Amino acid sequence: IEKTPTNHECPKLGCDRGFKSDTPVQIVVADEEEHSFLLQEEALERLLLKEEVQDLNVVVVSVAGAFRKGKSFLLDFMLRYMYTQSESWVGTEEEPLTGFSWRGGCERETTGILAWSEVFVVKKPDGCKVAVLLIDTQGAFDSQSTIKDCATLFALSTMTSSVMVYNLSQNVQEDDLQHLQLFTEYGRLAMEEVYEKPFQSLMFLIRDWSYPYEHPYGLEGGRSFLEKRLQVKQNQHEELQNVRKHIHSCFSNIGCFLLPHPGLKVATNPHFDGRLRDIDDEFKKELVNLVPTLLSPENLVEKEIGGVKITCRDLLQYFKAYMKIYQG
Ligand code: GDP
Ligand code: MG
Repeated sequence: IEKTPTNHECPKLGCDRGFKSDTPVQIVVADEEEHSFLLQEEALERLLLKEEVQDLNVVVVSVAGAFRKGKSFLLDFMLRYMYTQSESWVGTEEEPLTGFSWRGGCERETTGILAWSEVFVVKKPDGCKVAVLLIDTQGAFDSQSTIKDCATLFALSTMTSSVMVYNLSQNVQEDDLQHLQLFTEYGRLAMEEVYEKPFQSLMFLIRDWSYPYEHPYGLEGGRSFLEKRLQVKQNQHEELQNVRKHIHSCFSNIGCFLLPHPGLKVATNPHFDGRLRDIDDEFKKELVNLVPTLLSPENLVEKEIGGVKITCRDLLQYFKAYMKIYQG
């Protein structure tokens, strides 16, 4: 097994941050004709069975949602944080973003799950080392057939992650909640034992939030917004009540973060390459809170199954087992 540098050893080579050889790796691919999914076992083994990570407890942070909603853009900043681990992680004004969105616009829109090839080793404040895996899950819930396929895919991602960032644009629509209910239901069915709360942390991430006067940007505004949005009310239609109860019953921890619009250059300029100079200050201000909220050593959430922390090696087995169920 080849040895890759951990974040501490990783040489900082100016704008390329020394991760030239690291890439996104497709670990689950969709077969659109067969309506099925394939686990790229070898690729996953290469990640999870690296000598320096295989026996460490694993933290799996997954960003999930539809295409073209800024997931890669966010993941690239998460990579900056993981590779740098210092105050200056967010980068310089002129540094182009690289990582999940590398090679700019030619990224194909494939339904499936991608992982970052570097599994980061981080020391938590208690001295324990954990392995951090960053995951990108995407698919479209836009037709009857894709809804079913994507529910399976998102279920798989929910079951295998410790923190699920549900990336949404502008607001939490009733549809978004229904999709979440569907894929958590698929997930729950596939899990053998019935756990009190089958999944761990869910973070709604609302992009282009435009009501900061009602609920301010960030985690606190997100909390008050979500409390209102997920509230179960007596006079609500039963279906709406059930969706809300279901979501509460599935996750041990639910949060929400409201992000401002990043500015027109980010949203519309085809030549935008991710440099900070072109991003609105308000967005950057929130971004530097969001990323450590998810990834700082003290905030990392280790993946647990049935209340027990699992290692990278265990995670590989769970991926295989869950995949079998869906193929069954
Ligand atoms: P993904 O398909 O979800 O991974 O989306 P990308 O990260 O590739 O971003 C899609 C497009 O949206 C790119 O042109 C980004 O520059 C832009 N973008 C990134 N973040 C945001 C955001 O928060 N709001 C808006 N409006 N656009 C964004
Ligand atoms: Mg993407």
